Amino acid sequence: MNGAAVQRSEATSGRVIGRIDGPGPGPVVVVIAGVHGNEPGGPVAARRIVDALRDGTVPLAGTFVALVGNRPALQLGRRFVDRDLGRLWVPAEVERARGDAPPSSVEQGELRALVRELDALEAEFAGRDMLYLELHSTSGPGVPFQAINDTLHDRAIAFANPIPLILGVEESIRGSLLDYMETQGKSVLVIEGGQHEAPETANHLESAMWMVLAAAGAVPSDAGVVRDRGTRLRAAAAGAPAVAEVVYRHDTTPDDHFVMRPGFRHFQRIRRGEALADDVGGTVTAPMDGLLLMPRYQGLGSDGFFITRPVRRGWLSLSAVLRKLGVDRALTWLPGVQRDPLRPRQVQVDPHVARYLLVPIFHLCGYRRLQPRNGKMVFARRIEVPK
Ligand SMILES: [Zn+2]
Repeated sequence: MNGAAVQRSEATSGRVIGRIDGPGPGPVVVVIAGVHGNEPGGPVAARRIVDALRDGTVPLAGTFVALVGNRPALQLGRRFVDRDLGRLWVPAEVERARGDAPPSSVEQGELRALVRELDALEAEFAGRDMLYLELHSTSGPGVPFQAINDTLHDRAIAFANPIPLILGVEESIRGSLLDYMETQGKSVLVIEGGQHEAPETANHLESAMWMVLAAAGAVPSDAGVVRDRGTRLRAAAAGAPAVAEVVYRHDTTPDDHFVMRPGFRHFQRIRRGEALADDVGGTVTAPMDGLLLMPRYQGLGSDGFFITRPVRRGWLSLSAVLRKLGVDRALTWLPGVQRDPLRPRQVQVDPHVARYLLVPIFHLCGYRRLQPRNGKMVFARRIEVPK
């Protein structure tokens, strides 16, 4: 037993899987597990980390807190009860969750409880390094992977975790925690452990948490468990690209009766025109070549599948250099590009003047794409976490 490690909060809230305060200074790592109720691997994995840190075999610097996402849905084993909690993190919903009006859905109630926990942690640890981790699993099979908002700070943490890194998820899934934390300038990683019920999924999630804890300086990177889990993750991710970006998301509604064809897995190579699924309109084919990601083999959800493309590490190195040089200041010299007079971090791009070629240039320079406004493409400069 690590005498100096203190454990609190568990008796006060069923929301808290566990909290360990290490004896020394360090980052505050906040895990949210089970945002989707049919993904039991996350809470299992978070509980294992809490237990391991509590018995003191791996010394913790800083604080580790693990929270449950959607408790009613987890009890039912469903993705959600009324609304997808993984799509509710939009500013209006979060503000409502901070108010006193009665929740309009089961998930609004869950969002409220989570927002209050997070607000309390932010207040308690104001000025400290905070890192949020969201644990998920997928209905389709395949290797574990991670997603970040592409800041240089979060890249460095993700690069220490030897599973594929997916960029651009926050641009195609509105209302995810990833999307929300980006707008708040917070450091956040999403880890997808594998298929919901597969026995190795909780293992992958646990392993990835050890990698991230080490990368953040919360546990020693030469600890036995960190080295062992790194080896296992490298083996699990063999053959998958180190970094890829989302180039397409197939949106579905319940009326589409979307059914993915069997046999697809993460990072499977697909060709333009290849039959992937069926819906009311007939055969759904791939609109482009690429690597398939997250084929949906479950009833609930609005994402049919994603298509990604590998990103070269040289491209990422170039983008790090451009951002450090502040090259983005020159972007508004380009034709059709204007700074938003009301929102200093944002630029508006006239798609008739500046072509879509600009998207990779903005990504390179540290911008993310937002929803279009008034017929203009909109990009916002990402908020780098200060060193
Ligand atoms: Zn999920």
